Amino acid sequence: MTLDETTHKLQSLLRPHFQQGFTAYSSARDEFKGKASIWLDANENSLGSPLDGAGGDWHRYPDPYARKVREALSNWLKVGIDQLFIGHGSDEPIDLLIRLFCQPGQDSILTLDPTYGMYAVSATINNVAVKAVPTEPDFSVDWQKLAAAANDCKLAFLCSPNNPTGQALNPLDIEVFARQFNGLVVVDEAYGDFCPEKSILSLPVLPPNVLVMKTLSKAWGLAALRLGFVIAHPFLVHWLNQIKPPYNLSLPTQQMALQALANTAWLPASQLHIKQQRQHLHNELAKLPLVETVFPSDANFLLVRVRDAAATYNYLAQRGIIVRDRSRNRHCQNCLRITIGTEKENAALVAALQEFQLQG
Ligand SMILES: *Cc1c(COP(=O)(O)O)cnc(C)c1O
Repeated sequence: MTLDETTHKLQSLLRPHFQQGFTAYSSARDEFKGKASIWLDANENSLGSPLDGAGGDWHRYPDPYARKVREALSNWLKVGIDQLFIGHGSDEPIDLLIRLFCQPGQDSILTLDPTYGMYAVSATINNVAVKAVPTEPDFSVDWQKLAAAANDCKLAFLCSPNNPTGQALNPLDIEVFARQFNGLVVVDEAYGDFCPEKSILSLPVLPPNVLVMKTLSKAWGLAALRLGFVIAHPFLVHWLNQIKPPYNLSLPTQQMALQALANTAWLPASQLHIKQQRQHLHNELAKLPLVETVFPSDANFLLVRVRDAAATYNYLAQRGIIVRDRSRNRHCQNCLRITIGTEKENAALVAALQEFQLQG
């Protein structure tokens, strides 16, 4: 990989011991990539497995770089295959990025507060400090305040639409922030497929220090597969591949992802249905006297402020309806996070809340 100015800049952000050179594990499937008929290189069981005949070469290690899945994602998103890294869910790339760029006991990450909990958990596991910048009480972002706090942070995790608040950031604001930030900006678009028009990928050019994280767990409905991915400068993809566990994506995950991605037509109908149900549920909830605020949402959930979150949560739980009490998050006093369900589930939720009101 030639080191032009951009890659030089990106390389200077790696932890020092990576900059000094690092020899990644070289798997059997890395070293020989040609066609062969006899594979005696990986200590697999050449006889087969109890799953023989069940739709796959189960006794063989899977493709370490999930090339076919990356090809399918590349076609769907119109980004280069060399710009795609696939992880075991999004949690894996979050951890890998912290390990690549943040020196334990020394470096820090930047996040908004409130936001998705895994950034801080992953940083803490790695003994990396977290600078959490409070949003405004309406969950909007003061970008000047964020930029002022960003000094010396290696990574900024910006979740858009944000979890648990549901609101997307303006891609132009992220771009301005990224252009004056010395570190890397990770835009977590786990919910981005619910508002593609607000995706950072809609910018004509992505600044080289911006990475976009997406997942099959939400709009694609494939939380069980454990497949998250990153769109980034090829240099960053190269380094994520250098330090990941060699076979991080199992064969069933790769197979099922390929099957799903061949059916991109499934996505728009599901997106539309969830958007319509979100609007409907928003209206119904806003009518209830126990609801104080329904926050605007670009995602597949609503953050709702009620009079008494704990009592409401308990009543719903007794009725077998589980929502998330987010009261302990900043600015989220008495707020429940409610996933948009099916039409029937949403109606049952509204009916249960109406009953709760009658009792109270
Ligand atoms: C659900 C979610 C993810 C997805 O995690 P996976 O490990 O890919 O299932 C990522 N980021 C945020 C903010 C989420 O809410």
